[in-house]
Amino acid sequence: MLNDPRSHGLWEKTAPAPPLTPRLEEFVSADVAIVGGGYTGLSAALHLAQKGVDVRLLEAAGIGFGGAGRNVGLINAGMWVMPDDFTKELGPLYGERALDLLGHGPYLVRDLIETHGIACELEKNGTLHCAVGADGMKELEERARQWQKRGAPVTLLDAMETERRTGSKAYSGSLLDMRAGTLQPLAYARGLAHAAVRAGAKLHTGSAAIETGEVNGKKFIRTAHGQVTADWIIVATDAYSTGPWEQVRREQVHLPYFNLATKPLGDNLRHSIVPGREGCWDTKEILSSFRMDQAGRLIFGSVGALRGTGTAIHKAWARRSLKRIFPQLGEVEFEAEWYGLIGMTDNALPRFHKFGRNTVGFSGYNGRGISPGTTFGKVLAAHVLGEISETELPLPLTDTTEPGFRSLKEAYYEAGAQIAHFAGERF
Ligand SMILES: Cc1cc2nc3c(=O)[nH]c(=O)nc-3n(C[C@H](O)[C@H](O)[C@H](O)COP(=O)(O)OP(=O)(O)OC[C@H]3O[C@@H](n4cnc5c(N)ncnc54)[C@H](O)[C@@H]3O)c2cc1C
Repeated sequence: MLNDPRSHGLWEKTAPAPPLTPRLEEFVSADVAIVGGGYTGLSAALHLAQKGVDVRLLEAAGIGFGGAGRNVGLINAGMWVMPDDFTKELGPLYGERALDLLGHGPYLVRDLIETHGIACELEKNGTLHCAVGADGMKELEERARQWQKRGAPVTLLDAMETERRTGSKAYSGSLLDMRAGTLQPLAYARGLAHAAVRAGAKLHTGSAAIETGEVNGKKFIRTAHGQVTADWIIVATDAYSTGPWEQVRREQVHLPYFNLATKPLGDNLRHSIVPGREGCWDTKEILSSFRMDQAGRLIFGSVGALRGTGTAIHKAWARRSLKRIFPQLGEVEFEAEWYGLIGMTDNALPRFHKFGRNTVGFSGYNGRGISPGTTFGKVLAAHVLGEISETELPLPLTDTTEPGFRSLKEAYYEAGAQIAHFAGERF
């Protein structure tokens, strides 16, 4: 997408082509204008177009250019924070409402993939949150308790069962979440785009929103070569936000995260390393994740940016870590490497914003946007259609407030990950 193999890496190599989405080069009107071609914007476009709404979606670069085309592909239920923290942060009404919706989010993703025949390597075998040491196990026991009291299909596995499923002795146990799974993230975004176009939505790429306003009771968005006039605007630009809603990017702290993909593994290794293809990550503060793709490549990731000195440091660390976690792997060759920026909010929960009359958006998924973005895109569509009122939304209305020392924190995350990985952190 950027002629940069480190932006979308393996996903760009293996995703089916997106639909044809011309640049906006005229003045048009629509019922709803959507800004951003990731999961939130595409899900909103699809759900609105299916109801016969005239939709125009503007994407600054290409479909899946932001987080949607760069992530690990773990379809998680809920967020990083413990389930009970939803109610602590949002109160009992919004807390349980948001948790219930996000807990069921992966089912919506599966349903859309199956209904629209999206070829995106969907795996429905769950995820394994892998415990490092006794502290990691304690955290997972608490997480299991909090989900199980809400009836979620999560199971604590002991070290032996975790070893059988991951092919590694490195973990003291794991939490299996059968709601969750994995997919090819860019292929999913492009598949949503195809479905939205088939439903009648008009999508434009290379069409950054650069100005917005209101004339004669109608909202407008200007791009370099055209303009959309609409009754509603959905802002779905999240951590990669530029232009009129740049404050959405500025209210989040960017945490860089990289992935390295091996060449397809031989049959023996495929039978030993994550043979059930669960998506895995660990309980460490500077976490690592691993999963297989459909061709049998092992995709291993952690915190850090593959730029400057980071590239060599993180790759060397990954080689050492893989040897420790999967000694059976031997020397590995990486076929692709890429990284992206995860937007973190200060309470680690997403946000609902209203940027003026009839201009709304959700953002701030804290590294968990596949099912939340898809779900909240559908919620935004229902809100615009008048099916869900503002007080019935899953999150309360919040202002976009820039966190203190944002740039400093971002520099700290990037440098801190390098220092930790250079110092040879154990996993
Ligand atoms: C490295 C990495 C790993 C991650 N791993 C996971 C994971 O395993 N599981 C998971 O669930 N989530 C993960 N995430 C998070 C997930 O990718 C995001 O939360 C998700 O992509 C958010 O979807 P979105 O549609 O809201 O935003 P995005 O996918 O970021 O899309 C926003 C789009 O808006 C466009 N845009 C911005 N400004 C403008 C403008 N002015 N005009 C027009 N268009 C504009 C951007 O170009 C971009 O394409 C990860 C993220 C990263 C970066």
